[in-house]
Amino acid sequence: MQSEPVTQGQCPCGETRFTLRGGPVLRFLCHCTICQAFNNSAQADICVYTNGQVRLPDDHPVDFQTYRRPPAVDRGKCRACGQPAIEYFRLPLLPDIVFVPSANHPDPAALPAPAMRMFYNSRVADAEDDLPRHEGYWPSQLAFLRGYLAGLIRR
Ligand SMILES: [Zn+2]
Ligand SMILES: [Zn+2]
Repeated sequence: MQSEPVTQGQCPCGETRFTLRGGPVLRFLCHCTICQAFNNSAQADICVYTNGQVRLPDDHPVDFQTYRRPPAVDRGKCRACGQPAIEYFRLPLLPDIVFVPSANHPDPAALPAPAMRMFYNSRVADAEDDLPRHEGYWPSQLAFLRGYLAGLIRR
């Protein structure tokens, strides 16, 4: 079994740090209103990891808030800079899925391209690309799960 490269992710100020093993399972853009408010931007650019790929130290300075359940997403902002740090998507009976903002990677330009746009119905402005667009709650959730499972199989 080949070993996967380990990189260090961090929030914008660097107080929050975590370890990432291997590349993201999926990268997507989300236009939902919660992501807009949480990221203070028109869309979220997120990389998705399995819980086993990410190690956040126990003494992390992250303040988690839970949004919408089920399924619940625990969204964490760094206490030092107040910016999005890391998010945990809690699924019943399954291991957590971890969301890491693409900007919190050591080399965002080296990440795979986003695979889709989710909740495109609540976009602030039209996007100038031909990524697949998914609108509404269930179509977006199903597209996410399909993309995540396909990414797991590719790993
Ligand atoms: Zn910070
Ligand atoms: Zn969202």
